[in-house]
Amino acid sequence: MSDDILDFKSIKVCIDVHPDEDTRGAVVTSKKWQPGQTLRVRFLDGDPTVQQKIAAVAHQWSQYINIQFAFGNDPNAEIRISCGQLDGQSWSNIGTDALSVDKNQPTMHYGWLQPDTPDEEYSRVVLHEFGHALGCIHEHQHPEAGIPWNRDAVYRYYMGPPNNWTKESVDNNLFAQYSKNVTQFSHFDTQSIMLYPIPKELTTNGFEVGWNKHLSETDKAFMGAIYPGAAKGRTTLASGQSLQPGQSLRSPNQLHTLILQTDGNVVLYNQHSQPLWATNTGGLIKPGTFIMQTDGNLVLYDTDNRPKWASQTFGNPGAFFDVQDDGNLVVYRAGSQSQTEDNALWASASNDM
Ligand SMILES: [Zn+2]
Repeated sequence: MSDDILDFKSIKVCIDVHPDEDTRGAVVTSKKWQPGQTLRVRFLDGDPTVQQKIAAVAHQWSQYINIQFAFGNDPNAEIRISCGQLDGQSWSNIGTDALSVDKNQPTMHYGWLQPDTPDEEYSRVVLHEFGHALGCIHEHQHPEAGIPWNRDAVYRYYMGPPNNWTKESVDNNLFAQYSKNVTQFSHFDTQSIMLYPIPKELTTNGFEVGWNKHLSETDKAFMGAIYPGAAKGRTTLASGQSLQPGQSLRSPNQLHTLILQTDGNVVLYNQHSQPLWATNTGGLIKPGTFIMQTDGNLVLYDTDNRPKWASQTFGNPGAFFDVQDDGNLVVYRAGSQSQTEDNALWASASNDM
């Protein structure tokens, strides 16, 4: 897949699940979760690498909204993901619709993500499907979208491969617009992660939309208002503080996230979910804790308390660990007023800005 040029031949997009004429409605008001909720997420199948990549991207939403995703094996997980069957389809139930799905059945599906699929495609598809899981509808069905569709061309395109949709699916997924009464919406946003790519061949006046692969500023602000109270998150491990599996630190500018993954790897991601640095300790069966010890050493332990990675900065009681805006991870000397190189005991040198 080319990076920036819209490849008209291979647009693969998500298909709506259970479109419901009465309540269809940006965000369907009646399908919102409660702000502050932690939604449990369970994989029903799939490759562990694919699962890990999906989870890493999904957490991006939580930087902007007051909803957390807890990945695990809880049998009562609200969101169940299947990603083991490469059937070329991706979809998700919308918001709390997931609650009416049988507990053994998926509420979200990925049908083309593989271990070697480019990160940008993970970003595009996973942010979109989790958008649905949060209650978002397709942006092109926005009450004020007004896209000048060339309807005949749209039918021809989506009813052929790779989508092979029925006419009804095209009507439901492209032409049907949501009513203002049941929807909370902002202005129509051509950068939204919830918008399909639209090649100019499918419109009557040259209107087109490229691949939206990241959350737009409007996506962040609008969903932040739907789920208010997003935690800014910790940026520092003070002496004695630690991360447990699944927990993360975030730079003050929110662009860099360090997470102790459940596979035992500690990874720093940029805002595009690209890894900048890692302890390369993935594959531990049971990651224990990533701790800023009171002796100044930053250490990753497994559950048997065996050290798997360390900064080797012991002998510096009170030292602290910082995830900086520039993407650098630094262990600083205790009481450092100015965070300068002179006070740095260890650094990842992963700064990218
Ligand atoms: Zn979709």
